[in-house]
Amino acid sequence: IFKGYIDGVPKQTDMELNFSNIQLNQQLPPQSLLLKNLYLSCDPYMRGRMRDFHGSYIPPFVPSQALEGFGVSKVIVSDNPNFKAGDFISGFTGWEEYSIISIAKAQQLRKIEHDHHIPLSFHLGLLGMPGFTAYAGFYEVCAPKSGEYVFVSAASGAVGQLVGQLAKLHGCYVVGSAGSKEKVELLKEKLGFDEAFNYKEELDLDAALKRYFPQGIDIYFDNVGGDMLDAALLNMKIHGRIAVCGMISQSNLSDPKGISNLSSLIYKRIRMEGFLQSDYLHLFPKFLEQVSSYYKQGKIVYFEDMNEGLESAPAAFVGLFHGKNVGKQVIRVAHE
Ligand code: NDP
Repeated sequence: IFKGYIDGVPKQTDMELNFSNIQLNQQLPPQSLLLKNLYLSCDPYMRGRMRDFHGSYIPPFVPSQALEGFGVSKVIVSDNPNFKAGDFISGFTGWEEYSIISIAKAQQLRKIEHDHHIPLSFHLGLLGMPGFTAYAGFYEVCAPKSGEYVFVSAASGAVGQLVGQLAKLHGCYVVGSAGSKEKVELLKEKLGFDEAFNYKEELDLDAALKRYFPQGIDIYFDNVGGDMLDAALLNMKIHGRIAVCGMISQSNLSDPKGISNLSSLIYKRIRMEGFLQSDYLHLFPKFLEQVSSYYKQGKIVYFEDMNEGLESAPAAFVGLFHGKNVGKQVIRVAHE
């Protein structure tokens, strides 16, 4: 249950566990579904929904109700002609063991063609919203060319790990930043990044980027904003592109930090573009086909951080803002 609107960094006590009974054989409202939730996704954008702000692309959470987020679920009872009992689906569901999904909300659910070579939970990461963000942001916003120099921040996370691998498959030189030694090793040893560094150990981010990109950066895929974005602006090449995917370093500040080096956009003719993955949904089928095929051919790998049980969800969500997750943060609510 989401207890109420917050300031600052989310805490476990901003959410609480509640117990109530649900009748599995109850009469459902017309065209609705009863779902058993198997996996729930912890995503940074959910922090924005904990603020009483109605001007965003998604409304705030409703206090005293269950949180909502992406999930992978099994249909238990269906009164909806598009789904039948036993189907696996992904889409918005509640942070609860079972959810009743109204006809309006059922429209955004996607039936999963369950391929036993791909874990079902990957529909929250590699083949879900974060993977699609990497795909749309990299190919559509960054307009990459083979041989270009690419920098990715929060590079070991749900989005970043795929951006780096797509860039490598595209023939780019790729450097990632992340917040621990373990993550830096993962980037270099398992995810195929050419280089990686721990930004928490760098006193001067500008100097760090100059060390890794002496010739400058063509593409910066920005997941964090703040000081890293400012430093990247100083190190972009002429006609570079910055895809502004997220600003997690700013999401808990009531007074976000200003960016000092924006004039670089002018004299280096840099294109900096914010984007939302939802603007590119027409590309989703192509994405599913291409990325599933890369995965099954062993051309890409994907790391998840799986927590067990709904009761572990608040800590897992809070952990995103402390860099606790290594890879895509998922909660297993029930076994398939
Ligand atoms: P991650 O799996 O990368 O998890 C968040 C990570 O962010 C943490 O593990 C941590 O890694 C890093 N982080 C946390 N706090 C800070 C901080 N203060 N400064 C720098 N890094 C920090 O999340 P996602 O891959 O799901 O999301 C990455 C970004 O993409 C987010 O900003 C998110 O909002 C955005 N996004 C945007 C979408 C769009 O449509 N535009 C869609 C989906 C996501 P570390 O240990 O490396 O610090």
